[in-house]
Amino acid sequence: MDIKFIKNDHLKKKPDFNNLGFGKYFTDYMFMVDWYSDKGFCDAKIMPYGPIEFDPAALVLHYAQETFEGLKAYKTSDGKVLLFRPEMNAKRFQSSNERLCMPKVSVDDFVEAIAKLVSIEREWIPSTRGSSLYIRPFMFAYEAKLGVHASNHYKFMIVCSPVNNYYKEGLKPVKIYVEDSLVRAVVGGTGFTKCGGNYAASILAQANAEALGFSQVLWLDGVNHKYVEEVGTMNVMFVIDNVIYTSPLNGSILPGVTRDSIITILKDKDYKVIERALSIDELIENAKNGKLTEAFGTGTAAVISPIGTLKYKNDVFFNNDNVGPISQMLYDTLIGIQRGDIADKFNWTYEVK
Ligand SMILES: *Cc1c(COP(=O)(O)O)cnc(C)c1O
Repeated sequence: MDIKFIKNDHLKKKPDFNNLGFGKYFTDYMFMVDWYSDKGFCDAKIMPYGPIEFDPAALVLHYAQETFEGLKAYKTSDGKVLLFRPEMNAKRFQSSNERLCMPKVSVDDFVEAIAKLVSIEREWIPSTRGSSLYIRPFMFAYEAKLGVHASNHYKFMIVCSPVNNYYKEGLKPVKIYVEDSLVRAVVGGTGFTKCGGNYAASILAQANAEALGFSQVLWLDGVNHKYVEEVGTMNVMFVIDNVIYTSPLNGSILPGVTRDSIITILKDKDYKVIERALSIDELIENAKNGKLTEAFGTGTAAVISPIGTLKYKNDVFFNNDNVGPISQMLYDTLIGIQRGDIADKFNWTYEVK
C-alpha cells in the first residue's frame, strides 16, 4: 500500500504518562484511506489527528454500518516496540466486515498501516508495566444516501491513544451483574463481529448495572437466557475444580485474541480447558458448593479482569474477592510476553521498526 505522509506542524504537548486513564488522549497523527465501489481503496495517508466532516445523510449515522478493532503497542525495556498478534485482529476485522457487507482490508495492508502509524508515534508509547499505546482501527459507511443498502464509499481509519494499566493498583476484582432479560446478540446476528451496533444494544444494560454499583454485565445467551456468554467488553472464564471453562465460539460471542492466547497459555501449562456452554444455574451451584474458585474476564483493554462478585437475581456470590492464583499467573505471563520480558515461544509479537 502506498501511504502518503502529511506532516503535522503543531505537535501536541504530551500528557502526564502516569495519569492517562483509558482512551482520553490521542496522538498527533491518524491513518485514513477511502474505499469506493468503483475504484477500491485509494488515497491512503497518515495525516494530522483531527475532526473529519460528515454529510448529515452519511449512511453510518443512520444505519450503523461500522466495524472496529482494538490492539496495543508495547515498549520493551530495551526500547523496542512490539505489537501483539496483529494478524489476528486483521482476520477478525475481515470477518466483521464480511458480515456487515463492507470491504475487506488485506492482512498485510492492515498490519502495515498500523506499523507505519505506530512507528511515527513511538514517543507516545508509555513504557511502564501495564501501560501501552491502544490502537483503534475502524471502518464506516460514508456515502450520503438514505436508502438502506451497502454504501458505495467507506473510510478506514486508525487512531492511537496512550493508556495506563486499566486498574491503577494492577489487578483488582470487579463486581459483575448477570443480565437476565436484555440481550446483546443471538446466533445469526452480529455477536461474533466487533461492530458499533453491538455496543449500542448493550449500553442500557451497562448503565443499569452501573447504577446498582456493578462495573460490567455478564450476558446470557439471547434465546434461553440460560447459558453464560461473555462480559461487556471481555470474554469470560471460570475455574471449577481446577478446570477452566469458557463459552465456545458459537457465533454470538466475540472471538477474543486474549481469549485465544489465554487458552493456549493454560494448555501449555497443563491446565484442562473446556469450551462448552455453561448454564448460569450450574455456575451458581458450583459457587454455592465452593467448587468455583476463580472467575475472570479476558480482553485487550484490561488483559485479565478478575471477578470478585457475581450477582444473579437476588443472590450475590463472593468469590472470596481476592485475585486468584490462576488469574495472577495468566496476567503476569501474558503481560510478560507482550512487553518482551518473557520468551515469546508462541511467536506472538511483531516488532515495529
Ligand atoms: C473486543 C471484545 C472482546 C475481547 O477481544 P480481545 O481481542 O481479546 O480484545 C470480547 N468481547 C467483546 C464484545 C469485544 O468487543
